[in-house]
Amino acid sequence: MIEYVSNMALPVGEDFMIRKNRIEPKKMSGNEKRISIVTGTHGDELEGQYVCYELIRRINEDKRHLTGIVDVYPALNPLGVDTINRGMPLFDLDMNRIFPGDINGTMAETVAANIIKDLKGSDLCIDIHASNIFLKEISQIRINEITKDRLVPMAKWLNVDYIWVHSAATVLESTLAYSLNDIGTPTLVVEMGVGMRITKEYGDQLVDGIFVAMKELGIWDGEVITPKTPIISQDGSVHFLNAAVSGIFVAKASHCKELKEGEHIGDIVSPLTGQVLQRIYSPCNGLLFTLREFPVVNEGALVGRILERKGR
Ligand SMILES: [Zn+2]
Repeated sequence: MIEYVSNMALPVGEDFMIRKNRIEPKKMSGNEKRISIVTGTHGDELEGQYVCYELIRRINEDKRHLTGIVDVYPALNPLGVDTINRGMPLFDLDMNRIFPGDINGTMAETVAANIIKDLKGSDLCIDIHASNIFLKEISQIRINEITKDRLVPMAKWLNVDYIWVHSAATVLESTLAYSLNDIGTPTLVVEMGVGMRITKEYGDQLVDGIFVAMKELGIWDGEVITPKTPIISQDGSVHFLNAAVSGIFVAKASHCKELKEGEHIGDIVSPLTGQVLQRIYSPCNGLLFTLREFPVVNEGALVGRILERKGR
């Protein structure tokens, strides 16, 4: 059943509509648990579009196993998704910096408040992001340190490769996830793949994990997989690799690979002189969980991130 979460007229004569698809069991007891899947907050991150499609398709294929409510919100920033803009195109505004919003505020703030009102009370909310067009990420969940006791056990259901627990100091309070967790609605932020693309294997991996979460919550009684055991880390064990020069990055190592200290990750080269300007080596034994996808780099640009794995 398609429902409107927020519907406002735009000055240009169009409507700003946020829609969700609510999927319910045929017979309702009134005590159903609810899981909410949201994505498309950043219009240039499309990995979640496939996840929404595939989740709904698989539920509908075997709907007798559905014992709770699934709400799917494919585009919190529909104008952005339609035009491949990260923010809201008319306002050049990052949707993930306006939560919890204000029902009496500007249009964007009102929309944000409507979204929170709709999601509030979910037994679990999963907010799916992709990386940008510059970096490729393995499937991961990022959790604020202050919510880790509640969220890490739920994150383990989702079949991701990596759970990154961030220090509280680096967390932005104006995000959807922060606002929902703050009012007691557990919300997990998934980051995976690359901007403006769909990485089907990551999407399928996450959909398998969402079914595990649904089973744990009592929303699904069909067969599910045994989720992967993710690597869990805190900030201190992540190394950032930055370009020391501007040029063209050519990767040698492959993404998602376990590296030895000193292993060659890639080079920054000059297409004009044919020289290697910088060779980049791994500073430690670890997992290359972020790798640059977009080849043009400026000095200081992020080339990769390595999770240090002691004793490997
Ligand atoms: Zn995002």
